Amino acid sequence: MRKKILAANWKMYKTPDQATAFFQEFLPLVQDHDRDEIVVCPNYIALPAAIHAAKGSRVAIGAQNLHWEKEGAYTGEICTSMLVAIGVTHVIIGHSERRQYFCETDDTVNLKLKSALAAGLTPIVCVGEVLEEREANLTDDVLRRQCLRAFNKVSAKKAASLVVAYEPVWAIGTGKTATPELAADAHAIIRAEAADSFGQEFADNLRILYGGSVKPENAHALMSEEEIDGALVGGASLDPKSFAAIVKY
Ligand code: PEP
Repeated sequence: MRKKILAANWKMYKTPDQATAFFQEFLPLVQDHDRDEIVVCPNYIALPAAIHAAKGSRVAIGAQNLHWEKEGAYTGEICTSMLVAIGVTHVIIGHSERRQYFCETDDTVNLKLKSALAAGLTPIVCVGEVLEEREANLTDDVLRRQCLRAFNKVSAKKAASLVVAYEPVWAIGTGKTATPELAADAHAIIRAEAADSFGQEFADNLRILYGGSVKPENAHALMSEEEIDGALVGGASLDPKSFAAIVKY
């Protein structure tokens, strides 16, 4: 049995005070919840406030990005040792918004994945096709390419903590959700690629999250699919009651 992960991606929302207020309301709603893992990924500036607020709870805190170098002259960037030093445990890598707006490529995803694993962070690697690719029947090729390149020269042993998020780009922030069946099919493609890269046992244990307009109303149907091992939630994770309802699907 793969333990599900419900992860919040807050994107460029919430000041430190707003992050603190979120946890004051959210934590009592999920305090007895141990069925799944819960991760919240605030922006860099709100990370310390979130870590402080979540201390002693079951909620882990993740970053939304990292730089792969250990340190150096990279103005505006954040590296793994800085994240680890403040208590970050997870990191989102290769989100489609970073691929779309910030020149993230499969190769930088690979560098970031290696860096996160070396630092002991749990990476949540995002993959997913755009609408034109789905309509041209290229979903399979795109997912396989993104995974293959992301996993390049990463060993199964080192990748043990890897989590993948399938996020069809056409479903992110659009209100359009993949049907549970469609998501499950895409997850099976990712799992097959993981089996090719890391072996069948690794693939059987790999957690693959679904992301794309997950809401309290559709979380149960999505999470009931055997292939779906949790969710990466954007918009609906900003409100404590809404995210708690998704956690409890
Ligand atoms: C995301 O940003 O990872 C995401 C899935 O966003 P939303 O839930 O808003 O579609």
